Amino acid sequence: MQKKLRKGYTSPVLLIGKINKKKKTISSSTPKLLMFFRSEDQAKGLPKEDKNASRTLTYLTNTIKDILEDKKYDQSFGFDFFREKSIGKNTKVYKIDEDKKGDYVINGNLYSESDTGITLEKLYDKTSLTFELVDGKKTYSIDEEFNLKKGKSSLIDKTYYAPNILIKPGKEVKIVSKLFDTDESSKLGQQVTFKFSNLKGIESYTQNSTFNKNEEIVEFKIKTKLNEVIDSKSTVSAIIKDAFGNDLEIGRLTILPNKVYEPKFIFVDTFYKKNTTKSNSNYNSLVNNINNKAFNQASINFVLGKNQILNVTDTDFPLKDSSNNIGKYFVQKSGTQDYETTQNDSLGNALKTITSKFFEKMSEEILLEIEKSMQNFDVNDGTTTQKLMPQNKTLKDWFIQYSQTPNASSTAIKWYDRLFEGLCDYIDEMRFGFYPMFMCNNIIATKDELAVGFTRDKGLIIPSNAFSDVMTIVHELGHCLGLRHTFDKLNHEKGDVKIKPINTLENIMDYLTNGTTNHSKNFMTYQIDRMRENSERLKYNVEDMGFIIEKETIANPPQTVVKDFNGNKTIEDFSKKLCKYLFDSYEGIYNLQNTTKLYSHRDKILGIFVDIIKNYFKNL
Ligand SMILES: [Zn+2]
Repeated sequence: MQKKLRKGYTSPVLLIGKINKKKKTISSSTPKLLMFFRSEDQAKGLPKEDKNASRTLTYLTNTIKDILEDKKYDQSFGFDFFREKSIGKNTKVYKIDEDKKGDYVINGNLYSESDTGITLEKLYDKTSLTFELVDGKKTYSIDEEFNLKKGKSSLIDKTYYAPNILIKPGKEVKIVSKLFDTDESSKLGQQVTFKFSNLKGIESYTQNSTFNKNEEIVEFKIKTKLNEVIDSKSTVSAIIKDAFGNDLEIGRLTILPNKVYEPKFIFVDTFYKKNTTKSNSNYNSLVNNINNKAFNQASINFVLGKNQILNVTDTDFPLKDSSNNIGKYFVQKSGTQDYETTQNDSLGNALKTITSKFFEKMSEEILLEIEKSMQNFDVNDGTTTQKLMPQNKTLKDWFIQYSQTPNASSTAIKWYDRLFEGLCDYIDEMRFGFYPMFMCNNIIATKDELAVGFTRDKGLIIPSNAFSDVMTIVHELGHCLGLRHTFDKLNHEKGDVKIKPINTLENIMDYLTNGTTNHSKNFMTYQIDRMRENSERLKYNVEDMGFIIEKETIANPPQTVVKDFNGNKTIEDFSKKLCKYLFDSYEGIYNLQNTTKLYSHRDKILGIFVDIIKNYFKNL
């Protein structure tokens, strides 16, 4: 059905063009165009010319503010109304790709600062086609780049046109459709049928509308199913019958996938050179703000995990780089208890250390849980039944005790460290669906640009002077979710889809240009798509982990191990080591001769480990 619709799609446009050049004949074959708008107010404003050619920044800001404060827009769905040229004259938008060598290219050629040209939407949505409405004097059209034009010139008010919509599951939205018709008769009676290319996730929608006159605005409703998601882009086509009784598409709306992602924020109150065990922070409203101001439009709803505390010192270093300790990045601010940054990449560098400290803390806590369980685990070893580990021994002590027996390997002493590092690696590699937000209570960014977080999918570091700056946090989260800037930083990084910084007040992945805050409020559709595609942490959460205990893939003889949904080898390796170290210690310390009975407990031990790790992350 989808194919058929598309096929019949190009010719009607041509047909319109041909007929237009002649006189209009009967109603059903006169040129028509149907557009969707977010609200009636916006639909009323169109089409009109840009009467004020030199619209000011203030004007644009206010216009956009009006849109955002429109009561009908509850931020539960996202529209792509910030488009090329909507944000200032001569604003060029283009896309930069990476070639195999990692160089930035445009159209296959190396990128240079002076490049301009191809537009974002042309590349972004290749399915768009031209719709045109001509009545002899006026020609309105939506071109391939979703620009609304009068004749050859773009209309600035095309910004209100809604080509894309994202609706959360179980939500009904009311938008409007507006018919532009060259038949000016007062009793038009134009029937329009709306057809979905795919009804998955759609509960109900307005199937037919009647338009009685040109430029009439009619409500259009879509309701999504609560328990079924739209998992790929689909389209709503507005169909009329042409003079020969064939379907003719006169307008289109793209429906974006709407699975709601619910990643978890773990706010980690981080203290530098100050031992603290308590936090008074309540991050509830911050999470709500982050969701409402930006992420709900992408069907992302961050949930609040439990607060954590992390104390770091100046001698801390990241797990894999012992030369790079944190001390050089901060200096005490004179006359205060606070520390300020020493250089412009202090925060980014500190983030690596702080993140690995956090993973270490988690690993320790998980190992402590394992220890407790093993102290309570009954083993029938063939001659007696006793606990796998004595209650007065820690895991570390137990391994060390074994390593000191005459037959022990000298490497046994490193067993605890190996388990510890294995867990750290696993947490680092895994996408558990949580984001650590390191709220640095006694660190102030002075040399840095306020707050830094470009470590993809690894979390954010937020100095105390940025705690209340929601849009900066949102911007950094954009980076975490795989977005680049829309501008280039000299000698630093290339933007992805580049938008000239001029007046890009409503693009979150730009910097604020006029010195005031809280301007940037929206992600553009390509950014929403990219975040949803790029972030592993959005896709997985602890419920999806699906650990199983089964024979490992390659081993001789094969052993049962713990596997996760992601086929991650680290977890298999960890589970193998855990059993080996526990059994070897038991055997050695109790001088066990026959290990058959002991080894029969393997699956049960792994089962306990799975429960521990699942519960640990579930309860964060
Ligand atoms: Zn940035």
